[in-house]
Amino acid sequence: MLALAPCAARAQKATPPTPAQVAQEVRDYRLDNEDRIIRELSEFLAIPNVATDTPNIQKNAAHLVEMLEARGIETHLLPVTGRGPVVFGKLITAEAKRTVIFYAHYDGQPVDAAAWTDGKPFEPVLRDGAIEAGGKRIPFPENSAQHRAVYDGNWRIYARSSSDDKSPIVALLAAIDALRAKEIPLAVNLKVIFEGEEEAGSTNLQRTLELHKNLLGADLLITADGPVHQSGRPLVFFGNRGDIGIDLTVYGAVRALHSGHYGNWAPNPAMELSRLLASMKSADGRVLIDGYYDDATPLTEVEKKALAEMPDNDADLERELGIAQPEGGGKKLVELLMQPSLNVRGLRSAYVGDQAQNVVPEKAEASLEARLVKGEDPKHKFDQIAAFIEKQGFYLIDHEPTIEERRAHAQIAKVVYEGGYRASRTPMDLPMSKAVVDVVRAAAGNDTVVMPSSGGSVPMYIFEDLGLQWVGVPIVNYDNHQHSSDENLRLGHFWRGMEIYGAILADLNW
Ligand SMILES: [Zn+2]
Repeated sequence: MLALAPCAARAQKATPPTPAQVAQEVRDYRLDNEDRIIRELSEFLAIPNVATDTPNIQKNAAHLVEMLEARGIETHLLPVTGRGPVVFGKLITAEAKRTVIFYAHYDGQPVDAAAWTDGKPFEPVLRDGAIEAGGKRIPFPENSAQHRAVYDGNWRIYARSSSDDKSPIVALLAAIDALRAKEIPLAVNLKVIFEGEEEAGSTNLQRTLELHKNLLGADLLITADGPVHQSGRPLVFFGNRGDIGIDLTVYGAVRALHSGHYGNWAPNPAMELSRLLASMKSADGRVLIDGYYDDATPLTEVEKKALAEMPDNDADLERELGIAQPEGGGKKLVELLMQPSLNVRGLRSAYVGDQAQNVVPEKAEASLEARLVKGEDPKHKFDQIAAFIEKQGFYLIDHEPTIEERRAHAQIAKVVYEGGYRASRTPMDLPMSKAVVDVVRAAAGNDTVVMPSSGGSVPMYIFEDLGLQWVGVPIVNYDNHQHSSDENLRLGHFWRGMEIYGAILADLNW
């Protein structure tokens, strides 16, 4: 099987191979072992991994333990009642100065098999391209001694979690195999945290990790979750946004009324809600709520410079998405992602289309969300929004209004805080931040995109609270349909990811 100790002779050499050399060695190893690597990935993908499917999520964890122990990685399961455990692993290298935790999650979003082109999200399918580009289903190539399997970089594997988030786990383990085969020692102590309920909200992660804090000493955490930049270029990111949800309901009469007999007289909650929502933002998307931008920690000069250097593909996105005029008053998408947002996630009042009825609705509902940036407190953001609604003349409640309340107040809004969490952002000018960027650039190319914060939300504050600074090094393709049907992994990205992780393991130091 695998040699467990790195070659001592190589380990004592003064200069380790450069990240570019490591990437080349990993590539060389991969070309000889594609069949084995893809088989390991496919077997892992074939275990259904919806977080609430307890028997199967446990099978995933057990399978992960086997995968880790096969590499001589010391493994502990940190139990979570009724859910998949946190799979923790540790690989110590005697000469290493630094310890890096690698985070990924092994659960996936729920699946609607009927919506998948191949109908079976847990039976990995190989295609010679993306389905949207006419990619055809092809058999997994046969491997033999004379003829090694060669997987084209444009081929894709379709299965739930093929990109989010099982493939980074397999890429990391394959990178370890490659380093050992090439007798390249690890430069860091490696710990892994593989979570089994990320897609179900990471409800137990913080508590579980706090209970096992003694295991988690490290200098840096690298998260593999998420895709690379839309341009296809590699990505290193240093933050993500927080998120809160709000349920908003505006009331009219106690029941829907005939619009002919009562129209012009009965207050219309759909109109009231529309007026209220429209008053929250200016035409170019600026939130008009008092103090909405005040708490945001300003970007540092380093962060501003990184934003300015990011590729500007807004025009391509506008073309692809059919947008004539974006919000933001001329600011670039990436700049706007660094600000708090206010979004109407959904709206509902009475019926539309074929079901339309001639009524004055009895209520109108909106689901709102705000993405938070560093410096903002989730509950305070909710309070700002609620105070604004009150200032517009609404009587605020957190329950269905009573008849007395309806009679006493012309405008009533039920405003319910659905919870949320804060943003997290690691300074880009820390020595370790620079070291990660340098290694990834040297391994994967100087065109690597460096982003102060992604626009999305993952509860990385949990790690921040444990005293861990973190950096995101995702590897999978942007067009991977994550969370949706036909989730896929482009193999060229997977191969490059192995090289990036190999270079981090072999060269990261500061
Ligand atoms: Zn994910």
